[in-house]
Amino acid sequence: MQDAVIIGGSFAGLTATLQLGRASRSVTVIDAGVPRNRNSSGAHGVAGWDGLSPSAILERFRADLRAYPSVTQRSGTVTAIHGEEGAFSVTLADGEKSAAKRIILAHGVRDILPDIPGLAQAWGQTVLHCPYCHGYEVKGAPLAVLATHPMSAHQALMLRADWSAQVTLITGGMEGLDLDVLATAGVQIETRALETATADATGIDLSLSGGATARFAALFVGPRTSLAASPAEQLGCASADGPTGSFVKVGAMAQTSVPGVFAAGDLSRPMPNINFALADGAQAGTGCHASLLFPDLVTPLEVTP
Ligand SMILES: Cc1cc2nc3c(=O)[nH]c(=O)nc-3n(C[C@H](O)[C@H](O)[C@H](O)COP(=O)(O)OP(=O)(O)OC[C@H]3O[C@@H](n4cnc5c(N)ncnc54)[C@H](O)[C@@H]3O)c2cc1C
Repeated sequence: MQDAVIIGGSFAGLTATLQLGRASRSVTVIDAGVPRNRNSSGAHGVAGWDGLSPSAILERFRADLRAYPSVTQRSGTVTAIHGEEGAFSVTLADGEKSAAKRIILAHGVRDILPDIPGLAQAWGQTVLHCPYCHGYEVKGAPLAVLATHPMSAHQALMLRADWSAQVTLITGGMEGLDLDVLATAGVQIETRALETATADATGIDLSLSGGATARFAALFVGPRTSLAASPAEQLGCASADGPTGSFVKVGAMAQTSVPGVFAAGDLSRPMPNINFALADGAQAGTGCHASLLFPDLVTPLEVTP
């Protein structure tokens, strides 16, 4: 019986692991190896590492953790989780089991892109999700935004204000967008639907309904996100709806509504990024440690129906 099992060994999970390792607590971090930004050549906006590849950053994290003898790092996918505070059991896809008094969920979310040919292939390269993460690299160039939900209009307005004078919002006829505000701000409106996208090293060609094509340096797309079939869902952690999908609700100590279960990173906030995942991981690691030492201090998050 270890002190904690951490499900997901990326920015949030490895930071949580570090806190527990530095308290010499027995902890296993299990990681399936597919962090959300794996397709990006560089992660941006993280002080000290700006532009470093996600895999290089995470390898540094893993190397740091090797100095702590109470930490076990394990590759694998958790497929089932049972038990209760003090006695959880997780099962991996290869059939192995691991038992722990506490669980930290740090398995991120799954992106669900619109079902348009070419988007998935260019995801994280010329199909981008966030101006702060990747906008600077295409500053001043022609940019497109695909309307996937009403927040897409905000993205187009942001890009037009501070990243490029040439921003086109592809609405495909979506309703509920304030086209007058967009036009006044200088955003071009394209009402034809996006049918396919073909990316190369310098940009992306978009084919629109009716046969027209247009080329841009990048296409911004806000994907839906999902926690479906994840360990968080299996445990029944209370969740809330965010602008792109549901996320696990946590308290000030990163505790969830399920006793003994903590959550950190993208799966626990509506508007995530790496900096937040690091802070969440530190909170979950220290919150988990506090609950091992002082069980009465860290009570599960109370959720009103
Ligand atoms: C294309 C793209 C580019 C981005 N670029 C930036 C950027 O430049 N700067 C920035 O700040 N943010 C960026 N982000 C956001 C950033 O990727 C996330 O905020 C960050 O990765 C969240 O860290 P996390 O640890 O919560 O989750 P993740 O990094 O997604 O890691 C979750 C880990 O859990 C593992 N896992 C999942 N299920 C299981 C399971 N059942 N068992 C075991 N392991 C499991 C996964 O394999 C993965 O390794 C980007 C996001 C996207 C989509």
